[in-house]
Parts: sequence; C-alpha cells; structure tokens
Amino acid sequence: AKENGKNNYQYYTSSLNLSNQRRMELETGLRNAINNNELSLHYQPQVNLVSNQIIGLEALVRWQHPKYGFISPAEFIPLAEETGLIFSIGKWVLKTACTQCKQWIDFGLPIESVSVNVSPLQFREKNFVSSVNQILEESDLPPRYLELEITESVTSNVNQALSIMKEIKELGVRFAIDDFGTGYSSLNYLRHFPIHKLKIDKSFIDEINQHKDGEEIVKTIIELGNRLRFQVIAEGVEDEQQLSFLKENNCYLAQGYFFSKPLPAEEIEVLLRKKIVE
Ligand code: C2E
Ligand code: CA
Ligand code: CA
Ligand code: CA
Repeated sequence: AKENGKNNYQYYTSSLNLSNQRRMELETGLRNAINNNELSLHYQPQVNLVSNQIIGLEALVRWQHPKYGFISPAEFIPLAEETGLIFSIGKWVLKTACTQCKQWIDFGLPIESVSVNVSPLQFREKNFVSSVNQILEESDLPPRYLELEITESVTSNVNQALSIMKEIKELGVRFAIDDFGTGYSSLNYLRHFPIHKLKIDKSFIDEINQHKDGEEIVKTIIELGNRLRFQVIAEGVEDEQQLSFLKENNCYLAQGYFFSKPLPAEEIEVLLRKKIVE
C-alpha cells in the first residue's frame, strides 16, 4: 500500500509537471499562432425554425498546434485572457469573420449576419469601439451584418458597458447576450442595454426532457425575451425533442449539432448555396 501511495504521488507530480510544461508551451505557441497561420475560424449555422433557413453564422476560433494538434478554445481563450494575447487574437477573429462575411455577400449568398464572440477584457479595452469601426471599414462589411456576442459579465460595470454598447450600436452593429442565464445580470439593467438577441445557454437546453425545473427555466427565458422583444435563440440543440419543445414554447431560432457542427468556411459555403439545411 505504501509503495502504491508513492507511485501515485510520483504519477501525480509528473503529470503536474507535464501540464505545466504543456501550459508553458501553449503560452509560447499562442504568441506566434496568428503569424504562423495556426488559427482558423469555423462557422456554425443559426437556423430559423419556421423557414428552416440559415439566418446567421457564429464564428468560433480553432487552433491547430504543431505538436499538440487541435486545442479547444475552451482551453486557449482563458490562456489568451491571462496573457493579454486576447486583444490581438480578438482582432484577428473579428477581421477574419468580417472579411469572410463580406465575401459571402459578394458571392450573392443568403446570409443575414455573422456573430463574433467578444471577451469581456476585449470589450472593456480602451480602443475597442474604434477597432471595431476600423475593421468594418477595412473589410467593407456593412455594419448591420455584424453581431457581437458578449456575456452577462460585461454588465458588471453598468455605466461603462452601456456607453460602449451605445457607441457600437451607433455604428449599426448588433449585440447578443451569450450564455444567457448562467451569469450575473440584473433583469432591470438588461432592459436598458441595446441588445438584439438572447442566447439561451446549452446547459438549459440539455435539461429539456430531463428535468422539469430546467424546462421551466427555458420557458421563462423564452417568454422574457419575447416580451422584451429580443430575438431568442437556443444554443446546443442536439435532438428532435428539444426542437419541438422549443417551437411549442415560441422559440424560433436555434443552433446546434442537430443542424450542423461548426464547419470550415468552404463547407459553410456549400450549405449556403443549398440555402436550406436538411
Ligand atoms: P460558446 O460561445 O458558448 O459557443 C458554443 C460552444 O458549443 C462551441 O464550442 C460550439 O462548438 C459548441 N456547440 C455548438 N452546438 C453544440 C451542440 O449541439 N452540442 C455540443 N455539445 N456543443 C455544441 P467551441 O467552439 O469549442 O467554443 C467554446 C467556447 O470558446 C465558446 O463558447 C466561447 O466562449 C469561446 N470561444 C470560441 N471562439 C471564440 C472567439 O473567437 N473569441 C472568444 N473570446 N471566445 C471564443
Ligand atoms: Ca457564443
Ligand atoms: Ca454557451
Ligand atoms: Ca435529451
């Protein structure tokens, strides 16, 4: 037993070192990821449940690491936030998504919007508004096509968030509240923010047909969103039952593996040419 304990301990420390080493390598690698062309965007369709048309695409960043292969944004975005690399990565994502969207429009493809995730740090950065403006000009994308996904956490400083959002709204850009229901937000403040869309977090959608309380939360968010005249979209929809629950409860926009995984631009283009997702 003693020996076992010792082995466990050794195993534990060496795996700790390993993860420290991985972290350090990822940190160094992330600094060069943009220049080395290791970042790319995948796009996931947002679907209108009445017409079955794709109404928008969410851009999701991908990192192909030369040694470790695919690294999830759930791992490297927090790292980028800790190291300050989020600012350059965020700009790269925005620029790439806007340029891609403009190209699809020029091809005559039916696309209404591209949604880009914005880290709270990026959102609060001094030059955020002007860099959004600059990227829109450089990519020649009409601002109404751009939607920024922010989380409830940006509303912690109400006045600051409100003034940034108003300036960006002035440009013609829209806002979606991402992961809605998982963070802190005052419903009263929410009313005053220039928000276009509420995204119901996947964790609630997972509860459909599983837990009554979770279902009630989903219904309540949909009703709240509809009453405040936000668009309401369900994220992480994986099956038919979730879909019919959403429709029955007046949610008409959805995104999830049931329709499509996030796909590289070329594959999205094929879907857009078909116009309708099967
Ligand atoms: P998110 O914004 O909540 O994005 C939804 C995540 O759920 C994505 O994971 C997406 O691929 C995944 N997903 C979509 N539909 C389904 C489904 O039906 N089932 C399941 N199991 N998963 C589904 P992904 O791409 O790994 O991104 C994870 C998180 O990383 C995102 O969560 C977002 O917070 C962050 N992220 C991704 N790209 C960016 C970016 O460009 N900038 C910033 N700041 N954050 C990003
Ligand atoms: Ca998102
Ligand atoms: Ca989410
Ligand atoms: Ca289920």
